[in-house]
Amino acid sequence: MIVLKFGGTSVGDAEAIERTAAIVKGRLPRQPAVVVSALGGATNQLLAIGEQSAKGHLIGALRGVETLRDRHFQECEKLLGTSAEASEVAAEMSASFDELASLAEALSILGHATPRSFDAIAAFGEQLSSQLVASFFKLREIPAEHVDARDVFITDDDFMSAEPQTDAIAENAREIVQPLIAEGKIPVMGGFIGRTASGITTTLGRGGSDYSASLLGAALHAEAIEIWTDVDGMLTADPRVVKGSQLIEQIRFDEASELASFGAKVLHPNTIAPAVRLGIPVFIYNSRNPGGKGTRITVDAPRRAVSAIAGKSGITVLQVGAAKMLFARGFLRRVFEIFEKNGVSVDVVATSEVSISVTIDDPAALESLVVELASLGDVSVERDRAIVSVVGAAISEDSAAMGRAIGALDGIKVHMMSLSATGINLTIIVDGDQLAPAMERLHNVFFGTVK
Ligand code: ADP
Ligand code: ASP
Ligand code: MG
Repeated sequence: MIVLKFGGTSVGDAEAIERTAAIVKGRLPRQPAVVVSALGGATNQLLAIGEQSAKGHLIGALRGVETLRDRHFQECEKLLGTSAEASEVAAEMSASFDELASLAEALSILGHATPRSFDAIAAFGEQLSSQLVASFFKLREIPAEHVDARDVFITDDDFMSAEPQTDAIAENAREIVQPLIAEGKIPVMGGFIGRTASGITTTLGRGGSDYSASLLGAALHAEAIEIWTDVDGMLTADPRVVKGSQLIEQIRFDEASELASFGAKVLHPNTIAPAVRLGIPVFIYNSRNPGGKGTRITVDAPRRAVSAIAGKSGITVLQVGAAKMLFARGFLRRVFEIFEKNGVSVDVVATSEVSISVTIDDPAALESLVVELASLGDVSVERDRAIVSVVGAAISEDSAAMGRAIGALDGIKVHMMSLSATGINLTIIVDGDQLAPAMERLHNVFFGTVK
């Protein structure tokens, strides 16, 4: 069997869902299980409804609910017309939107929303899209069966970025999904969403449908996991930032994982791990160009010096300076203990004789980090920085590539730079507004297309 995941733009409207059905139909002999995202943009709208409600802006929130309701009904009508399925789906959707409106009202009375409430709201997106897609598939003679993803994806209660419980997921997948496949059915479920062992709805974090697909693929020992999106595959840089980025036909798991962690949104950063464990290849394809070659992510793809450039903005740099303390025994441990205690993960680290610099991309715990780090030395905070990454499995063995990377940044202020001994990623911290120029220049040097 294989797992097919369709992102928001691949199920964004009736035409996109038509294309998705054709792709699934072409793969029926391979026994696909289908994972879908919410209709493109719906998750953002749902979270905005949550925020408005919590601020007491109930009218705005309910307007948001109506806009989403209209969109879903319009697409439903285009897809299902007056079929028997149509009225059933419409009734279910109507009940969901009523429930969403009640939630918005409740939050506006409370004047407060917790991560748990945001998950309850965000989960509507994938529930609605998966029901709609499953019903449309049936109309196209695909023997689809809707599965409530929450019955399969058990997680912890770290709302908004819940940790999947892989054993429970594997068991549920075997009990709920596998028998459907064995009967010749095509299970269709929402990505991104799950629930705790006690039944509370959770989500795996933004972009988490890729992760759901990978978890399902691992649970069912799939032959392949296909991520269908709006670009031809993994490219040498984000095409929205760098013109002339090129398709990477084959890339290694470790490189793809590094790129995803450092800003290549085409893949959720956790997607790779479950597939790697079982050696399941992951493919990325364009649902608008289904005949394209796509990208194949495997263990044994060629080791290149540079495979792609990634970038991520909104980075905060924290520096702890302690001239005498820095290399005293236990100093680094104490620094990192503070990050661990605050639940903050660090992306890039660099040390000098007198200071240690680290980057974080979530400033939520910044205040408490600064207070605690101040007990170890002088702390300074630099906001609005960006990380540019040059990713390649063999980069640290290729001094010419390193030289070209550094040369390309001539004239751009570099705040930090880091490359580990097994380096597959040269990370460079620049000012936030230098992210695009730095990516373009690096791309130009290695892939030579930008004039
Ligand atoms: P989906 O809704 O299908 O999950 P996403 O918007 O999450 O799609 O991811 C696809 C987007 O990722 C592309 O439109 C592209 O702008 C962005 N992206 C960033 N870096 C890369 C890259 N290196 N290769 C391809 N796409 C990238
Ligand atoms: N719909 C969710 C999001 O927009 C999950 C996903 O699309 O992967 O973040
Ligand atoms: Mg995505």
